[in-house]
This record gives sequence, structure tokens and C-alpha cells, in this order.
Amino acid sequence: MPAVGTLAAVETEAAQCTRCALAQGRTQVVFGVGDPHAALMFVGEGPGRDEDLAGEPFVGRSGKLLDKLVRQEIGLDRSRCYIANVVKCRPPGNRDPLPDEIAACRPYLEAQLELIDPTVVVTLGNFATRLLLQTGEGIRRLRGRAYPFRAGHLVPTYHPAAALRGGAEVVAEMRADLVRAKRLLPAGDS
Ligand code: URA
Repeated sequence: MPAVGTLAAVETEAAQCTRCALAQGRTQVVFGVGDPHAALMFVGEGPGRDEDLAGEPFVGRSGKLLDKLVRQEIGLDRSRCYIANVVKCRPPGNRDPLPDEIAACRPYLEAQLELIDPTVVVTLGNFATRLLLQTGEGIRRLRGRAYPFRAGHLVPTYHPAAALRGGAEVVAEMRADLVRAKRLLPAGDS
């Protein structure tokens, strides 16, 4: 991992990564997408089948919902945010990422946070929220407020797949979390 570098250099390095067993099953590394200078960054869990094939995070059903909610509540499309995941390669059968896989991939996420330097990070679901807030607490307890994070803020919300399963109430809470994130963005960034 380059100590100082560009996002493109880190992405090039990640594309060759064999730090964990997920490398064997992937079609490609799904590093991240969006504006490398975004004030708003989303962190999900890991690529699913659609993302593994497309090489881009959140392009399946969850992603469509995320795009819609972000557009409606924050007024941004994905090209003006940055979207990444805790693990950059698809876990087989969409299982949860394992602790050693999360640890092996963590330097890539840390490099993304360092180089993009977003003001607001929105974590989507338990894996991203627990990792970045360093807690074992669940998303239901953690969401509903913002936390100091790096030089800015972290706003935890549900994973959009949970919103797809959970129906109107979960979607409404997710919308409220996105409004919370919007209020923390620098003026002119939404
Ligand atoms: N779920 C995630 O956590 N990330 C993706 O990129 C797609 C689905």
C-alpha cells in the first residue's frame, strides 16, 4: 500500500490483490466509484453478484434504492459522491465477510478515507458501521444520530438490502438518516 499516493494508484494495486481468499472467487475487484474529492462517502459491506460482474459497487437492487434515496433526500447522484465497500471482492454466495477478510481489506478502505477525505461518511449496515465506529453494537441502536469521525462526521444507516426487506418503516428511517447526513455537508455540496 503506498503511504502517500493517489486513489488511482491504490486502485491499481487493489486490482492485483491476493491478501485474502476472496481473491480466488472474484470476477474483478470492486474498488469504489464516484468523485475522488467527494464531501460525502458511502461505505457498504461487500460486492454481490451484480457488482462482481460490473466492477462497480451498488449496481443491483440495493444500489437502485440507494441511488433513489440519495437523489431524493440529498439531491446528489452517484457521480457526486463516492461509494465503496468494507471488502472489495465478492464473498461466495453473498455470505457475510469474515473477520480476516475485513482485516486484510481494511488498508484499502483506510486509504480511500485518507485520500478522498470526505466530510461525511454514511455507513450502510452493521459491517461498515461496526468497523468504522469500532463497536460491536448493532445498527438499530447506532443509527439515528451522527458521530464524530476523523475530521468530520459519520452517519450510520441501514443497509439498503435491509430497507428492501424491512419495508416502509425502515425506508423512512433511512431517509431521515440521509437528511441528517445532508445537514452536515458543507454548503454547496448538495
Ligand atoms: N451490497 C453491498 O454492501 N455493497 C454492494 O456494492 C452491493 C450490495
